[in-house]
Amino acid sequence: MTRRIDCDVAIIGGGLVGSSAALALRGMGLSVTLLDKGFCGAQASGVNYGGVRRQGRPSEQLPLSQRAHAIWPRLQQLIGIDGEFLRSGHLKLARSADDMASLERYAAEVAPFGLDLELVGHNQLRERFGVMGDLVGGSFCPGDGHANPRLVAAAFAAAARRAGAEVLENTEVAGVSRTFEGFALEAGDVAVTARSVINSAGAWADRFARAFNEPVPLERTYPSMIVTEPLDPFLSVNIGIEGGGIYARQVARGNVVVGGERATPLDNPDYSRPHSDGALTIMQRASELFGPLRHAQAIRFWSGTEATMPDRNPVLGPSATTPGLIHAFGFSGAGFQIAPGVGEVLAELVRDGQTATPIDAFAITRFSPASQPGGALKQQ
Ligand SMILES: Cc1cc2nc3c(=O)[nH]c(=O)nc-3n(C[C@H](O)[C@H](O)[C@H](O)COP(=O)(O)OP(=O)(O)OC[C@H]3O[C@@H](n4cnc5c(N)ncnc54)[C@H](O)[C@@H]3O)c2cc1C
Repeated sequence: MTRRIDCDVAIIGGGLVGSSAALALRGMGLSVTLLDKGFCGAQASGVNYGGVRRQGRPSEQLPLSQRAHAIWPRLQQLIGIDGEFLRSGHLKLARSADDMASLERYAAEVAPFGLDLELVGHNQLRERFGVMGDLVGGSFCPGDGHANPRLVAAAFAAAARRAGAEVLENTEVAGVSRTFEGFALEAGDVAVTARSVINSAGAWADRFARAFNEPVPLERTYPSMIVTEPLDPFLSVNIGIEGGGIYARQVARGNVVVGGERATPLDNPDYSRPHSDGALTIMQRASELFGPLRHAQAIRFWSGTEATMPDRNPVLGPSATTPGLIHAFGFSGAGFQIAPGVGEVLAELVRDGQTATPIDAFAITRFSPASQPGGALKQQ
């Protein structure tokens, strides 16, 4: 028998984006149904590296990122756990004079946003941060940090449920259509009607945009991660490298989480497999910077499925074709830090039709300028 639910807002996808939107909407007193095809927080939001970093983002993301930055220290009060969030600082390393010049240019460009970046030279890297290797210098962002993604994403969904959201897991949305009063969603034996829909389906969001005549060039990418056995503390900051290569952080239990390579998609592109070659490459690069990693045992490696846009900015904002539909996807390897801010912005867009946080750069029309307002009565 089909269960029928009527609500103000239906959210497709219970990653950190959808779950934080659900919680924020409940805070505004709106009724919310959050649907996930699997478990909330089991995709990118729950398997990522855990970097909570503003440094390195394009300047158009920084107002949103700053908004999220203010939320992270309040997790205990907001979702009931601190998510192992640690404001450790984020140190971005430069391997060449050109890379250092790029860090210097970035520090000047983003100075108005209050990241308080500090440029450090080669000697300081070794003396202050214990980083070895052939490096020119780095840029330190003291307010950035890291957290445990496995805890945070699921806890947002649990908090939304406690706040009164209807959270439906293992409930895949198979189709959405525009109705006279809003939207009708088909999801197995559940039929949901809602005044607004948030499309936060991560790497699967393009099909819902396409269904409303808004095709987007979303590409799936598969970052690959490793974690070592617990080691004595040696790494107090979250590390990245200008131009890419590796990123690394050490958690309180001593394990070191390292990322850097890409995994290969399987025949079913929902899934991927990291390579042992890639894992060795990551560990080799990391051990050039940190002596304690030279003989460390890697105890697990994994990958996740991420929605990546060609300009590496998300799609965030109202649909251009369909009133009541709001998109939030394509976070391009950097959505963990900003997702709690995105959730608040989405809730404001639903309630007020606008937000004070600048999001124009993320409009879906940058990919489908020909899309016409009107409202697609289109089934998936
Ligand atoms: C390995 C890895 C490392 C990363 N490291 C970092 C990092 O250090 N820092 C950082 O800021 N970002 C990082 N990211 C990026 C970050 O994890 C993502 O940008 C962010 O989690 C995206 O959140 P989301 O809610 O949009 O997507 P997701 O977490 O993927 O959630 C989308 C949800 O939609 C659901 N869904 C899809 N289709 C349907 C449907 N038809 N019906 C119902 N539900 C559906 C899925 O099951 C999924 O749960 C990393 C990503 C990966 C994969």
